[in-house]
Amino acid sequence: MQETCGKLCNWFAETEDYSPLPDFETFPDISPAIEGVTTEVLLEDLQLIMDCAYRPAHPGSLAHLDPPPLTSSIAADLVCAGLNNNLLAYELSPGFTKLERDLCHWIAKRIGMPESSGGILASGGTLSNLMSLVIARQHAGLQNDPSAVVLASSDAHISLLKSLGVMGLPKHSLRLVSTNDEGQISLNDINVQLAKLQQEGRKCFAVVATAGTTIRGAIDPLKRIAEFCRDKELWLHVDGAIGGVFGLVNQTASLVEGISLANSVSINPQKLLGVAKTSSILLVENCSYLKSTFGTDMPYIEPLDDDGFHGGECGIQGTRQADVLKLWLGLRQLGEQGIRFLLEESIKRRDYIENLLDSSKFEFVSGPLHLIAITPKAISDVDEIKSWSIKTRQLLLSHDFMLSRPFYKGRHYLKIVLGNPNTKLAQLEKLSELINDSID
Ligand SMILES: *Cc1c(COP(=O)(O)O)cnc(C)c1O
Repeated sequence: MQETCGKLCNWFAETEDYSPLPDFETFPDISPAIEGVTTEVLLEDLQLIMDCAYRPAHPGSLAHLDPPPLTSSIAADLVCAGLNNNLLAYELSPGFTKLERDLCHWIAKRIGMPESSGGILASGGTLSNLMSLVIARQHAGLQNDPSAVVLASSDAHISLLKSLGVMGLPKHSLRLVSTNDEGQISLNDINVQLAKLQQEGRKCFAVVATAGTTIRGAIDPLKRIAEFCRDKELWLHVDGAIGGVFGLVNQTASLVEGISLANSVSINPQKLLGVAKTSSILLVENCSYLKSTFGTDMPYIEPLDDDGFHGGECGIQGTRQADVLKLWLGLRQLGEQGIRFLLEESIKRRDYIENLLDSSKFEFVSGPLHLIAITPKAISDVDEIKSWSIKTRQLLLSHDFMLSRPFYKGRHYLKIVLGNPNTKLAQLEKLSELINDSID
């Protein structure tokens, strides 16, 4: 165990000697041998596979929403595996079941949701979004309506489409609403789409607003949409996988004003807060929705009184590890000041690089958060832009900077996610220089 921890510490210590993306030739044996191998061989295997890993702690890792993990959350995951409790049932995880329930309630209250609110943890935002849509559909009584629809902006996350597929609904059950120049959903177009649906005789069971879109970090006008949805008695889910955490501290909460008015909210602490994966939360305005949607009774588990609950009856997953431990310890380690620091510094880094990038050469798409995507102004041919994006990403990788290359509104962009607290301003200066020089 100690040697393993030593290896992990080394892996972190040597991060900057390598590139964010590994360049590996050797790979360990896949199949178990007839006899179990020695600890020594196991450690060699481990080293081999660690050498093939992506390095989120590298200061040049700026491609995705995958920051370095908080130390407390790494330790928590180890302990979690050791305790091997199961969130399926109260009797298999008494302390963790209570911790999860209480912490979800605290987070919901913290972002302004009502006293009745609560939530459940899930292995990623895709599952949180799926659960929210299942709850919303049940709430609307449309479980058996194959023509039922969800409205979300054209910049919303693809997990919505995946979720509707899992729910047995066709692709076009996701109605895409247009966005404005800032990448925010158009309330006008929501209205237009609803009128069309009415003409077609189809019902909408949820409007999804995004707090932090995946390409540019745009935040939909949550308050106005919430008031609109309340008026029309429509379920509002806020996909706050990226931006929801900004609601946790007073100094940034105004960015996501109105999030507390949603019927359900997804938040991913595994993104900007750096809680080790996986860490996602689904919050609902009324905690009882979880059990009324997912409760099945489990004949093989001790029944509980009315106040009690089993994790396995409050969400899609059955057996589940205690992800709550690393979330709780991570938040405790950061404290309010630490959370605020992570959030505000990420936005400052976005501002910093935005000012350094040459606006005469690039078009920027961004929002109020820590994401920015750029595309060259002078090139109009989409294939030429694509080859610029491939070439430039490759060039940047050779300088140990890793960006991503999303396709957005008909052309390629290079996207920079500034959620990595290890990235120094001097490195952003170097990065912007390389990017500016990629266009004459
Ligand atoms: C990342 C993300 C998700 C999905 O989360 P996973 O944890 O990758 O499943 C959903 N919505 C948005 C806006 C995201 O950025």
